[in-house]
Amino acid sequence: MHLRLLGTTGYHPTDRRQTACLMLPEIGVVLDAGTGMYRVGRLLETNTLDIFLTHSHLDHIIGLTYLFSVLAGHEQVAVRVHGQAAKLEAIAEHLFAPAIFPAMPPLTWQPLAERVSLQNNGRLSWFPLNHPGGSVGYRLDWPDRSMAYVTDTTANPQADYVDRIRGVDLLVHECYFPDGKEELAQSTGHSCATPVAQVARAASVRRLLLVHIDPSADSQDPGLEKMKAIFPQTQIAEDGQAIDF
Ligand SMILES: [Zn+2]
Ligand SMILES: [Zn+2]
Repeated sequence: MHLRLLGTTGYHPTDRRQTACLMLPEIGVVLDAGTGMYRVGRLLETNTLDIFLTHSHLDHIIGLTYLFSVLAGHEQVAVRVHGQAAKLEAIAEHLFAPAIFPAMPPLTWQPLAERVSLQNNGRLSWFPLNHPGGSVGYRLDWPDRSMAYVTDTTANPQADYVDRIRGVDLLVHECYFPDGKEELAQSTGHSCATPVAQVARAASVRRLLLVHIDPSADSQDPGLEKMKAIFPQTQIAEDGQAIDF
């Protein structure tokens, strides 16, 4: 399975990184619609586009307003936006209020079912995460591979979600802060480096890819060497990167 990283930061974009957006072009799936969403159009190769939102903070949804240009030349593509019902309602009401954005793109809202079928005999499941306002993580399984996406939460190897991501081939996990910012991580609902590596180890995943890197940090390395000492197969994601897993 082929994964494209279209946005690897949170909060606001930088010259190096757009905000949260991952894409699995073969099956027409996008995870989060941050500013990286503008890059989806050039990778579209399916007649359906399923966008799964982790939550409705702006850095994960603003790209829904880019759909008109994403779909230019792809008018036949059916777009479904999946997320928790209350979040979808908030987006429809506020992001697409006429005073904020002039038109509703051609899409259907799809409140999250417990399980969703994916192309290539895949299935997607979700689980709740601790974050101000609430967020969800996703696990995607195919007969011969699997991945999980966990963002906007405070990593903890004892957290309930560790069981839900157990054994995946690829864990894409947020890592907003280096170690030493534990209090800030807790109050903002984000993660410091060491607990993220501990989660990967506790869940026995095959590899760990770090996203949602703090855009305002001088160093774009939240502590890779330290994390590798805990979980060797750790990598910091970059925009544009293609991963086969
Ligand atoms: Zn975020
Ligand atoms: Zn958030």
